[in-house]
Amino acid sequence: MTRSSENNNFRQLPDYLQGLSVNQNPDSRIFYYQDLTSTMITAREIVDSSTARHGDLVVAEQQSGGRGRRGRKWLSPVGGLWFSVILRPGIKPDQNQLIALAAAVAVVESIRLHTDLVAEIKWPNDVLISNRKVCGIAVDLVMGPGSNPWVILGIGVNVNNDMQHLPTEVQQIATSLSNETKIKLNRKPIIDSILVKLFSNLKLLKYNSQQLLNIWQKYDITINSNIRVYPADGSQPFTGQAVAIDSLGALIIKDNNSQIKRVLAADVSIRVAN
Ligand code: ATP
Repeated sequence: MTRSSENNNFRQLPDYLQGLSVNQNPDSRIFYYQDLTSTMITAREIVDSSTARHGDLVVAEQQSGGRGRRGRKWLSPVGGLWFSVILRPGIKPDQNQLIALAAAVAVVESIRLHTDLVAEIKWPNDVLISNRKVCGIAVDLVMGPGSNPWVILGIGVNVNNDMQHLPTEVQQIATSLSNETKIKLNRKPIIDSILVKLFSNLKLLKYNSQQLLNIWQKYDITINSNIRVYPADGSQPFTGQAVAIDSLGALIIKDNNSQIKRVLAADVSIRVAN
């Protein structure tokens, strides 16, 4: 990876972003900022300017308008890892949902590798520790004229950010790695292994997506649980049992009337009841 100096908000790369071992595309760059509205917005501008390269990384120390899925706010004070990766993964458009799963697996495995914490996944892509959210993942698709869209993958990990500074309602559902380990962590090995594992998972996704789904299931806490499903269109929430995910990452639910339903991540939020 090379460093970019094309931006007026440009800063010298900090230690934790120097010499990252990911080498997916040697031409890819790191765009590093102190403050951004959102790495997703800046990444989108890079794609729109037709200068994007597969593997380009946009990193910010803090975001004032970070967002999660479906425009939800992602609070991003200093101390966390807030970044977007620009990708052209060359997978079938209906497999795009699997990118979030590939990212969740990369984050879970990196946390487990560099701490003794047991990170788990709630479908589709929430990474939890002791049932509290430690990472958010967002995926935007940018369709161009061809059939090979750009993907902007946003990953936010609460690493050393002070949870006391988050609003009470978020504090109740969130945690950070330092909150759990009681020590300040070096962010470098964490982002490094997230990226290495992400690119290797994207290869799996392209050539053997079932294997990726099998790995995802190892960390998943959703399947076999009772869940409450909240449709994004505001229609009536319902309860059921999560029974499987299919080959495209959709969740298969048996509702309380024993009807089988298939839901896409884009269309619902779920809460695990047990
Ligand atoms: P769910 O599917 O569980 O309803 P989601 O996947 O749609 O959630 P995301 O888009 O991943 O949610 O994240 C946004 C939500 O995460 C916010 O609505 C807020 O509750 C919570 N949140 C915001 N900032 C943080 C943070 N730094 N750490 C943990 N949780 C956060």
